[in-house]
Amino acid sequence: APISAHRPIQALPDQLISQIAAGEVVERPSAVVKELLENALDAGATQITVRLEEGGVKRIAITDNGRGIAPDQLPLALARHATSKIASLTDLENVATLGFRGEALASIAAVAAVSVTSRTADAPHAWEIVGSHHGTVAPASGAHGTTIDVQDLYFNTPARRKFLKSEQTEYGHCAEVVRRIALARPDVAFSLSHNGRTIDHWNVSEMARRSAHILGSDFAEARLAIDESAGPLRVHGYAGLPTASKARADGQFFYVNGRYVRDKLLVHAVRAAYQDVLHGDRFPSYVLALDLDPSLVDVNVHPSKIEVRFRDSRAVHQFVFHAVQRALAKTSATDHGSVPP
Ligand code: ADP
Ligand code: MG
Repeated sequence: APISAHRPIQALPDQLISQIAAGEVVERPSAVVKELLENALDAGATQITVRLEEGGVKRIAITDNGRGIAPDQLPLALARHATSKIASLTDLENVATLGFRGEALASIAAVAAVSVTSRTADAPHAWEIVGSHHGTVAPASGAHGTTIDVQDLYFNTPARRKFLKSEQTEYGHCAEVVRRIALARPDVAFSLSHNGRTIDHWNVSEMARRSAHILGSDFAEARLAIDESAGPLRVHGYAGLPTASKARADGQFFYVNGRYVRDKLLVHAVRAAYQDVLHGDRFPSYVLALDLDPSLVDVNVHPSKIEVRFRDSRAVHQFVFHAVQRALAKTSATDHGSVPP
């Protein structure tokens, strides 16, 4: 029966608040993968293992060799609005870490069975907390670093669970998130397994090699290196030649201060730079990273931080547009030509 609105106003219980918040942060298994990978990177990991079962719905276990969490901090790691990354508004405006909202682990713990096992550099053994920030912290075995094990996503929120797609689709989204993040961080080794089978493994290398590995040899053989700076802005990476363009926009990777973003302004700037060399129904492939002072970009626009807002969006648009256009202009002179209609 429909719920009557005629009730007294009440403060919601903590668990329910987290479950509501989880709707935004934990849209599907791949969102969990993203949050856990970002935490591992923020912890300075150089090696990250992602193990998935049944598209991530049954299990997402991510192990890193980062700095770990001290045992007395483990409950806080799972508590809402608790973070080691910012402490003030000034910090927020200059945030250089991928996370800062202090809600991912709490949200995940509200809609899945979570355990966190962690060992800091100076600890003789690991410690583990299970369930939520109310869980007890107990000694455990484990190497230096952190493992976060997330099982049975949405087991207690059946309405959400109904929106999950097939195992293969959910797996595909998870793998895409791993690829996006691995592409930005060639200095970190990643491995990905699904249902016990190793799917991919990327050793520590440099951008040229990592991007060839992830985007394939077609891209590697038809790309232009870009590295331009102007004042506080730097853009670097690779723009695919028209011959590396695709019928779908699935070869486009843009990062702002190391964070994968899907930003209309940036997509438009790059698209516009390709205008003269690419037919309208083709999509350019690229891996581009824009670095700028954190105070010039607001990443706190959306809980998933996939959108950003620039303080001077016109300047950013112009800068990216010209950098890509200049790179492409060099090649039209050497006759790589455009894809014919
Ligand atoms: P946020 O990343 O926004 O701070 P999270 O809920 O994702 O919030 O994580 C809460 C806190 O737990 C982090 O601030 C960090 O101190 C700690 N933490 C989470 N994951 C890891 C990890 N893999 N290694 C070390 N510390 C971690
Ligand atoms: Mg986080």
